[in-house]
Order: sequence, then structure tokens, then C-alpha cells
Amino acid sequence: MAQIATISLPGRRVTPTVHVKWGNTDIAMGSGHPIVVQSMANTPTADVEQTVAQVLELARAGSELVRLTVNTPEAAKAVAVIRDRLDQAGCSVPLIGDFHYNGHKLLRDVPECARALSKYRINPGNVGKGDAKDEHFCQMVEVAIREDKPVRIGVNWGSLDQELFARMMDENAKRPVPLPPSDVLREALVESAVASAKRAMDVGLPAEKIVLSAKVSGVPDLVHVYEELARRSRCCLHLGLTEAGMGMKGMVSSAAALSILLNEGIGDTIRVSLTPKPGESRAEEVRVAQQILQSLELRSFTPEVTACPGCGRTSSDLFQRLAKSIEEFICEQMPVWKSEFPGVERMKVAVMGCVVNGPGESAHADIGISLPGSGENPVAPVYMDGKHWGTLKGQDIDTEFKKLLTDYVRRTYGPKGE
Ligand code: SF4
Repeated sequence: MAQIATISLPGRRVTPTVHVKWGNTDIAMGSGHPIVVQSMANTPTADVEQTVAQVLELARAGSELVRLTVNTPEAAKAVAVIRDRLDQAGCSVPLIGDFHYNGHKLLRDVPECARALSKYRINPGNVGKGDAKDEHFCQMVEVAIREDKPVRIGVNWGSLDQELFARMMDENAKRPVPLPPSDVLREALVESAVASAKRAMDVGLPAEKIVLSAKVSGVPDLVHVYEELARRSRCCLHLGLTEAGMGMKGMVSSAAALSILLNEGIGDTIRVSLTPKPGESRAEEVRVAQQILQSLELRSFTPEVTACPGCGRTSSDLFQRLAKSIEEFICEQMPVWKSEFPGVERMKVAVMGCVVNGPGESAHADIGISLPGSGENPVAPVYMDGKHWGTLKGQDIDTEFKKLLTDYVRRTYGPKGE
């Protein structure tokens, strides 16, 4: 059974535990369980080849759940085929179906899709208008109950329930001092999520099967909305900044928003919604999500390499080259190290540029090296477990340090006696 190492997270908000399962894989989310990293494929789901390839890429990068768009009968029919192909490839990552407008029909007409998915995402703003809205929403919840699947009720400010928002704006207009429309919008997002969760529970879906989200694209708005959601609901929460954007902007905005909330104990699963640059791997959003959790010391995925920024004391690019080379080396080794040396993901490595902070920072790491700065004695002191081990010098510091690193990993994380 796939397991995620449990890490004690004091101060986490208490929620029911939601299990998202496929085969022997059981991803538990909620208080007491590690925060789950998820992602979403951007391939047309009806294209089985492309979608299988991308889900495998995302799962290998560490995505613990992968969401697929299910928007047409062809996409719905492809889901079970994709599931089979992933199983044949030995990949049991649970799949989540993302439904809008016609989800009630697709789940009814393509039962193999309903079964092959491990969780359904329902957007209460996109399930219909008037009486049909409640009818369609309840139909989807009934399928989830019948198939024993959890549901994410995912509200988004780009597709907020317009009838609810109009009604709340009317009520706001009658107040002695009306609130700004932006406040009403935030309140409507929370209300839509909380009221939909209550409706799903009235239909018979237990709280242990419900995850809530209410995504916006602005950091302060997101923090406000989730703080309110956490206050008004005990359900598991999926965090993410919607339409975070491209590259650095998307990463920094996501990190800023998610860090505030996670540090408050809010959030049980996260997705970083990056827009990939043309040709860029979709898996980047998984790595960013992992790095956010690792930086907050909530989970460990890969050894942390601490490198100083360099300054006028680093006379050549040797230091930058070594820092990059060590990072890449660890990345290459991790698929093997992870299975052979449990705990290696918590190792801390320091690669420092000179004698000013180098020895100190290296001594705080499990293993560290401090390169010589301008005018310094051309030797590189190495530290292991806080103690000075010796020095490296000459042209082959890179290779020698990697050898020391590999020996350290074997000795420290390998079977006893190795
Ligand atoms: S450790 Fe040395 S090289 Fe690195 S930033 Fe500090 S002073 Fe500059």
C-alpha cells in the first residue's frame, strides 16, 4: 500500500479524514496526515496516449493525486481506458474527475468513468441554473455516494454561482452601510462552498467524503476566503491560488498565499496552478508545491541544498558550478536513494562560497563544503555531522565531494553495518 510518511503537524486544523483510494493506494488527507500534493493534467482527456504519458510524468514527479478534465462523452469514456493503462504501467495514482455543466449526465451515462475515478470535483457555480442547479448537484452527489467516492466542492471566483451572488448583492444594498462589492464577492465564495457542503451532507454524503475549496487569483483575497472557510466549516480544505500565472510570478504568488495559510494550520491538500511556458514540463507545478511544503518544514521530499548567494568574495564561477552540479547529482540519485536509503530526503547539504559563513553553515548541515573565496587559502573544508572532516583541494573537488556525499548517504541512511 502506498504510504506517505506521517509527520506530526502541531497546530493543524482538525478535520475529518478523507481517503482517496485506488487499488492498494490510499491517500489520506486531513488533520494528522501529511499535506497532499496534487496536480492537474492539461492534455485533452479523450487523447488517451497523451494523457497517460502526462499522468505518469506528474505521478513520477510526486503528484499524489492527478485531476483530469471530464468535459465530453469521449473524455468520460477515455477515463476508464486511461485508468487501465496506468494500472498496467504500475501507476496507481488516484485520478480525480473535473466536472462542469454536464457532469451529472457524464457520470450517469458513463458508469465506467464514475468507477475509474477516485474523487469527483464539482463546481457548484457550473452545475445549472434555477431548479436544475440543485437537481444536477444532487445527482452527482448521489453517484458519489453510490460509488463510495469523495467529492471536492470546488468554488472558483471565475465561475461563482451568479444567482447566489446577485441575491447577496441585493441583500447588501439594503444594509444601512453596504459593504464594498469585493467583500460581498468573498462572502459569496465562502457561502457557496459551505452551503453546497451542507446540501451534499443532507443528500447523504458524510463529511469524511467532502473536501472544500474556494479559489481566487489574488493573495490577500485567498487568505481571507480560506480563513473564513476554515472558521465556518470543519471539512478538509484544498488550497490553491487559481490562475497563479507563469514562471516566477506564479511560483512566488502561490508560495506567498499558501505559506500564510499553511502556517496557520489551514490546508490539507495543495495544488500550484502554474501556466507552463511553451514546451515546459507540466511537472514543474508538482516540484513547486513540494518545495513550498519542504521550505515550511511540513514535509520532506528531497535533500535540501543550502547555497549562499555568492558575492564579491567568490572570485570565479566554481562555486556556482559546484552548487548546481551537486543539486543535479542529488536529483539524479534520488530515485534510487529514496528506495534504498529511507530518510535521505531529510538530509541537509551546504555548498558555500567562502570562509565568512561557509564553515558555520556547513557545520549546521549534515554534510557541507566551503569553497575558498578570493585571496583565501585554496582549500575547501568539508564538514560532516557538525564536525570538520578534512579538506579537498585541486581540480577535482566536484567529483571528490560527490563521492563523500554518496558514502555519507550509504553510511547514514543505509542498513546498519553497511
Ligand atoms: S558565504 Fe562568503 S561568498 Fe557566500 S555570500 Fe557569504 S561572504 Fe559571500
